[in-house]
Amino acid sequence: MDILWLEFLFIFIIGSAIGSFLNVVIYRIPLNKSIVFPNSYCPKCNRSIRPYENIPVISFIFLRGKCAGCKEKISLQYPIVEAIMGLLAMLMLYSYNWSWDLLIFGAMVAVLLALSVIDIATYRLPNKIIITGVIIAVVLTVLLKREYVLNMILGGLTGLFLLSLMGLISKLLLRKDTLGMGDIKLAGMIGLYLGPFQTAGMFIIGVFVGALVGISLIIARGKKWGQRIPFGPYLAIGGVIALLWGDSLWQWYISFALP
Ligand SMILES: [Zn+2]
Repeated sequence: MDILWLEFLFIFIIGSAIGSFLNVVIYRIPLNKSIVFPNSYCPKCNRSIRPYENIPVISFIFLRGKCAGCKEKISLQYPIVEAIMGLLAMLMLYSYNWSWDLLIFGAMVAVLLALSVIDIATYRLPNKIIITGVIIAVVLTVLLKREYVLNMILGGLTGLFLLSLMGLISKLLLRKDTLGMGDIKLAGMIGLYLGPFQTAGMFIIGVFVGALVGISLIIARGKKWGQRIPFGPYLAIGGVIALLWGDSLWQWYISFALP
């Protein structure tokens, strides 16, 4: 068996286990519950989840999406978050191999995945998780990538600045708040990981993807212009794209702009 294949299987298992923890965070943080105690239990019959029922993705299939006690349906969100985190971990390994960057950017995508799901479900970006993302960025950068500290600070400021500017402009145009403070703080947090240039890339890609989806929703579902949409997931998508392909996109853009 190919070693490479085993490495990717291994990182998928690690990633999906992190995804399983993110599910706990996604469910409990908006309800202000502890993420440590108690162990996972069925919200309907309170039956505690046995360890063999808690294997990411596989247990859901094995249980056919139902609680083993009361047969209540388990949300598809659980295996989907686990699978997405597993795939993101594979993508990070593919991009960074076994390096500190794998740890740093793996942590970033985990925080972004949790925040995106919560934002879609509740229109909120909990401070606790954003602060956790900030602490991870600062601690890991200072410990592992000290030469990057200035970049980190400039990236954070770039994120805060661009989103504040966008909030101000859209407020002037639409005469109401379409962006939350959470979006501004989130952009600052992502900026710490990306540095100033890729943060600008995140902003452009995020606005572009958000506008595409927003316009499609207006056409398809009759949503109104200027209605509040969760912007967190677009910043997250923009952040990951800028991280992985930002340099190539800049070069591609420059080759057009400066022939
Ligand atoms: Zn149950």
